[in-house]
Amino acid sequence: MEVIREPGRLRERSDAWHRQGWVVGLVPTMGALHEGHLALVRAARKEADRVIVSIFVNPTQFGPSEDFARYPRNLDRDLGMLQGLDVDVVFAPGVEDMYPPGFQTRVELDRLPRHLCGLSRPHHFGGVALVVTKLFTASRADLAVFGQKDYQQVRVIEQLVSDLDLGVRIVRHPTIREEDGLAMSSRNLYLSPEERMRAPTLYRVLRALGDRVRRGEGDVEILREEGIRVLEDAGFQVDYLAFCDPWSLEDLPVARVPLLIAAAARLGSTRLIDNLEVTPDAGPVV
Ligand code: AMP
Repeated sequence: MEVIREPGRLRERSDAWHRQGWVVGLVPTMGALHEGHLALVRAARKEADRVIVSIFVNPTQFGPSEDFARYPRNLDRDLGMLQGLDVDVVFAPGVEDMYPPGFQTRVELDRLPRHLCGLSRPHHFGGVALVVTKLFTASRADLAVFGQKDYQQVRVIEQLVSDLDLGVRIVRHPTIREEDGLAMSSRNLYLSPEERMRAPTLYRVLRALGDRVRRGEGDVEILREEGIRVLEDAGFQVDYLAFCDPWSLEDLPVARVPLLIAAAARLGSTRLIDNLEVTPDAGPVV
């Protein structure tokens, strides 16, 4: 497993692989790896001949009052976790490798970032789109794997790839959860033991709401109000609980299938997100 820091070197490596006819897969991460990330790496391994995992805490996707400075960073631990997964290259650039002095390009999307997390994090998805564009061009990836836990992110990236003809196949991976249902997240490390006990309520509420929609309830106001009440009783401060179209992410006036139920809520100073896609045939997709 080779560690590369410079985008130019990554591109050379990938170009050489392509000359051999190999399919190159990319798994972008911000490190602080957990089983959710590793599942993405295994999925990439199945679909690609060469696998790149990027580890980069991207400053352009954090707002000024967000957790960029305290985001957990431990490259040695992350490299240890990737051992045995047959990863070919870990791309771990420094901030100055990605954004050298004089850097001034932006990548913005028009509509998808106006919903869900974009409302309270107005520059987040522009930052994500920028770094992912750079990761795709540096890695020359044929495919890239993203988790559905960050549902809006994966939609933004699918749109970006389509709009800019980037030619990267986006593979969506289902959310990996702890036994009690909590979606795995690097930010779960911030939770106190007491908050950690309350945290699974977020997914329990999404499932309960999904079941009600599936049984035919459509009144979004009632569903939202009741969901928010349960979350608040469990100690959450709710940022949003949305019933939206899984493709456009626009709010639906009446709940129907297919549906995305998405939520962001704080426990103390930790912001958790989760979502549930309610699909026509197979029941709630977890
Ligand atoms: P992050 O390091 O949090 O930026 O996440 C890197 C990638 O891992 C993104 O595509 C996330 O959606 C994905 N990911 C994070 N947590 C999970 C999870 N619990 N299950 C599946 N994918 C995840």
